[in-house]
Amino acid sequence: MNVFITGGCGFIGSHLAERLLDRGDRVMVLDDLSTGAMENIAHLVGRKGFEYRIGSALEVPLVSEFVDRADVTFHLAAAVGVKLIVERPVHTIETNVRATEVVLGAAAKKQKLVVVASTSEVYGKSTSIPFREDQDLQLGPTSHSRWAYACSKALDEWLALAYVREKGVPVIITRFFNTVGPRQTGRYGMVLPNFAQQALRGEPITVYGTGTQSRCFGHVKDAIEALVRLTAMPAAIGEVFNVGTTTEVSMMGLAEMVRDAAGSSSEIRLVPYSEAYPVGFEDMMRRVPDVSKLERLTGFKPMTPLDEIIRDVVEDQRSRIADTLAGARG
Ligand code: UDP
Repeated sequence: MNVFITGGCGFIGSHLAERLLDRGDRVMVLDDLSTGAMENIAHLVGRKGFEYRIGSALEVPLVSEFVDRADVTFHLAAAVGVKLIVERPVHTIETNVRATEVVLGAAAKKQKLVVVASTSEVYGKSTSIPFREDQDLQLGPTSHSRWAYACSKALDEWLALAYVREKGVPVIITRFFNTVGPRQTGRYGMVLPNFAQQALRGEPITVYGTGTQSRCFGHVKDAIEALVRLTAMPAAIGEVFNVGTTTEVSMMGLAEMVRDAAGSSSEIRLVPYSEAYPVGFEDMMRRVPDVSKLERLTGFKPMTPLDEIIRDVVEDQRSRIADTLAGARG
């Protein structure tokens, strides 16, 4: 099969590219390296069937060429990460909405299959746990940049579903919950790689707010398995799927588990939200997916245990820190 991945040098995209190459697909990757990195695909360059282009998912001719050549396009290119969104709202909105328009427009010419990556952020402030794909979204005001991300991805979903209904384009939407694993960078504010780096460096582990807020972390390899299975199911077309796990952990509990896994004696420090985020930022207390729809259709339920997930992330960060130190020593 020929596969095109926008954002293929990113954390999830690079794992997906590897998995698809392993099963014998031809994989084309497009990435502008805004948050992705060449080092994520360095081990794939030169492999049979692998091709990459550094460029923007907003470039219509480039995207059209790749979509035309592919049997399925995974549209993962997006501005992600809470920090980036709050700092660069214009970039976030424009990238997320326009790139999806370009990809869907290209797919519509020959009715090509597209998977659009969305996010659990679209549920917004909802406290109706667990989150089901068909429940109401509850976003905050437009004066708070944080909600620009959720809104831009919700618009992507609406556009994708409109293409399905109006133009018959086969599109599947996946809402990723907190997806973590090797290669994820802490640069854009993601909690687990940050905690792992802090623990390994012996720095204070910064838990924001009270630390009682919780998340459910899913391993990237499970998220990819879900993606791969969904693309093989005609019944997935025109549907939205949560992708994540249902095991909740508080941020304080996570900090303790990471510290143990790293064999660290770092202090765990509570940092008030007012110091951690710009004024007006609202954190979510809980975010739990209902993954029964995914399981019903594909038979798959992402469930790598949290301790294994943490171990993988800590070991990945350990080797990155070792590489950086080796580089600094020359
Ligand atoms: N968080 C934290 N310390 C950090 C970074 C994040 O306590 O150094 C918290 C953050 O406030 C949130 C949770 O960890 O409650 C998950 O944050 P992340 O940005 O990884 O994901 P999201 O908020 O999008 O679920």
